[in-house]
Amino acid sequence: MDDKKFIAELEEQQNREKEGYKELLEVFINTPMDLESYFATSQKALLGLADALMVGKVKVNLDIPSNPILPAGYKDERVLFQSEAGFSQDSYSETYSTTEQGTATYTFYSKKGTIFTEDNKKELHHMTLLLYGFGGRARMGQLLQHVITHDIATGIPNLSTFIRYAFELNEKNTITDYDAYFLNTKNFKYINRIVKYQQGDVVMMRYASKIRDFLIEGEMVARLGGDNYVALIRRDRSKAFQDYISGIEITIDTERGMKTIVIGAVAGVYEIREPLATSADIMMPISMALQTAKSILHQDVVYYTKDLSQRILEGQKVVIDFDECLEKGEYVVYLQPKVRIVDETICGAEALARWIHEGQMISPATFIPALEKDGTICKLDFEILRQVCVLIKRWVSEGKDPGKISVNFSRWNLRNINLVEDVMKMLNEYDVDPKYIELELTETMELEEYAMMANFAERFKKMGIATSIDDFGTGHSSLSLLKNLEVEVLKIDREFIKEIGNYNENKKDRVILSSVISMAKAMDMQVLAEGVETMEQKQFLKDVDCDMFQGFLFSKPLPVDEFEKLVYTK
Ligand code: C2E
Ligand code: MG
Ligand code: MG
Repeated sequence: MDDKKFIAELEEQQNREKEGYKELLEVFINTPMDLESYFATSQKALLGLADALMVGKVKVNLDIPSNPILPAGYKDERVLFQSEAGFSQDSYSETYSTTEQGTATYTFYSKKGTIFTEDNKKELHHMTLLLYGFGGRARMGQLLQHVITHDIATGIPNLSTFIRYAFELNEKNTITDYDAYFLNTKNFKYINRIVKYQQGDVVMMRYASKIRDFLIEGEMVARLGGDNYVALIRRDRSKAFQDYISGIEITIDTERGMKTIVIGAVAGVYEIREPLATSADIMMPISMALQTAKSILHQDVVYYTKDLSQRILEGQKVVIDFDECLEKGEYVVYLQPKVRIVDETICGAEALARWIHEGQMISPATFIPALEKDGTICKLDFEILRQVCVLIKRWVSEGKDPGKISVNFSRWNLRNINLVEDVMKMLNEYDVDPKYIELELTETMELEEYAMMANFAERFKKMGIATSIDDFGTGHSSLSLLKNLEVEVLKIDREFIKEIGNYNENKKDRVILSSVISMAKAMDMQVLAEGVETMEQKQFLKDVDCDMFQGFLFSKPLPVDEFEKLVYTK
């Protein structure tokens, strides 16, 4: 070959390479910023340039350690090019560190039967820079995508991913095969208290991954922040999912060593039966159902129904219109007599609120939960106390003995540090002797509330006002805790009484009831049974020395005039 021809060919080859690089830059710039697209582009590019670069094989090793975004880290080895003619063992390799403190190593093997010249290596260095630069860009793009679509603390998808996925299923017309869930963990506050500093996040991460373990192809769980999760579960697995989330075991490092805790959940469920139009079509029903589960029905699982949304809307109306209706005198007292069991004489009454609105009497089951939500209930409690004071003042002035009238006081009142003073102020205003008043507090499972309750009971006692524990047996309090409370009366919830004399009565019911009564009495408390409806129930209570009862058997809650007729005209 003559010199001229050789130079011309060399120039042509250099031009081809230049063109090749230019094209390559353009292709890379237009490649989507994720690793798979990057690998695919690199493979295509190397196919065209391998000959000029004298390479027989190219591989890249990525080694990314665990980091907050990819807790499992990332390891990968990809062959970007391999010649059919084979390659030799002579290699050229460069390692770069990545932003996440990992490494990216590019290794080139020379064409079969050749070794790399210094000029080749210079070319390979340029090629490596190019591959490394665009590889980093792809990885960052992928991380960014992950951050945008996932919850950082737990690594599971976030809300926008959840919604996007729901609409993908919607497009495929398969969304109606799913139940949507809104979950809250049950005892996370407690868990945060027992785990070591900063372990709360670890618990959340494990909890999320346990939920993810349950999922099969097509299902999804996402975190909204805090302990709020949403999930899409195939309808035929919905019951199994509810079982699964009712107690998820997690082992954690606590102040006292390793401990396995069980995390329960409350869930609002929506059986998706219609295609979705907007994200509200999925979010609104599940949040309404969860809200109902938590603050109205106190159940672990509540399914959304149209009825339920009506109830919530009504509840919101209750709160909005509350002050106005209270002023108009729409909230009134009904009285249910309390009866001594030994001689069936009336020894007092429980004051129960009724809402007379637009000519209808609305039961507390409808409006109390709504007022309980934000503490508005305290205003009602004081209004009922006021009405009771007015009555007592009148009865006493008429020479009548009203006995003890009990008023329900929501636990929200415990947050009022001036509660005792506020109650006394009301009694003084109407000149009512504290001996006529009893305050009913519902039992609680929160230890902090217990302490507050104990404190108030003691202070009320000092003022001569009796307190009682309402609905005993429905919460989780134990008698051993009660012994520290200066409470006069234990009101046993009607759930305990209900089965007595029923065809499906369990023998244990009677045993539990009689031992609760004798233990309470041993602690100097009087015992009142709620919801007594049958003679048999009354007889049993008499046999086990219960002091008082309340219930339809004797009388329903009555409007004041009817109560007066019953009590004072004998
Ligand atoms: P509670 O304090 O446990 O009141 C007893 C409930 O049992 C009353 O329901 C009463 O009507 C009902 N009851 C009485 N005897 C029987 C019976 O023999 N059988 C059956 N099945 N039920 C019986 P009510 O009046 O609907 O009140 C429900 C709950 O609403 C009350 O339960 C109380 O927790 C709450 N509540 C009512 N008024 C007030 C109030 O002024 N303030 C607060 N904070 N809560 C109130
Ligand atoms: Mg009560
Ligand atoms: Mg009760």
